[in-house]
Amino acid sequence: MNRPTPPQSLLDAEAILFPVVAPAPELKAWAHETFLAETGELHNPQHAHLIDSDIEFMWASTAFEKKGRVVLGQCEQVMLRAGGWHKVRLEQQYREWFGRVPKFLITVAADYSAECSDTDFCALVEHELYHIAQAVDIDGEPKFNDEGMPVLTMRGHDVEEFTDIVRRYGASAGVAEMVAAANKQPTVAKSNIARACGTCIRAVA
Ligand SMILES: [Zn+2]
Repeated sequence: MNRPTPPQSLLDAEAILFPVVAPAPELKAWAHETFLAETGELHNPQHAHLIDSDIEFMWASTAFEKKGRVVLGQCEQVMLRAGGWHKVRLEQQYREWFGRVPKFLITVAADYSAECSDTDFCALVEHELYHIAQAVDIDGEPKFNDEGMPVLTMRGHDVEEFTDIVRRYGASAGVAEMVAAANKQPTVAKSNIARACGTCIRAVA
């Protein structure tokens, strides 16, 4: 399955000058089919808790700079820290985009996504997915809510966890191109994704 490309309207000069965001249902579908579904080409059982989760995806027309780094992707637990009409505005905006206020939101830079390699794109999206973990109880057992659904929470993650992704890509059969790409590029380039993730940068701050 080909990876989704951002809509042209987000790559136009206007969208570079005045950055915009747009819902990315095609990116959501692709992430589910590629990483979460058991039949996915790059299925990762470590994301099993995300299969029925409430995550939405967005494109942002441009990367942005924060603390001297270029942010290419970000994962957040949606919190409406607002009241009154401010809250109404935020909720309305989310409903117009997604039909509801989602629990988690992953945003990736369209300008970068349009140009980067397949490997880099997969690494970026999976990096953001890795930020959403299943909460554990006091004994370290995975937590479920009253409906039997996994309780999800944000987590930071270090370089070690991320190089696991590269190791995994290298080990999967049937993705020869990706393996070749993963082997060709230095591992450090992959672990650098954390340097290009708004969520990671915020965690460091
Ligand atoms: Zn990150």
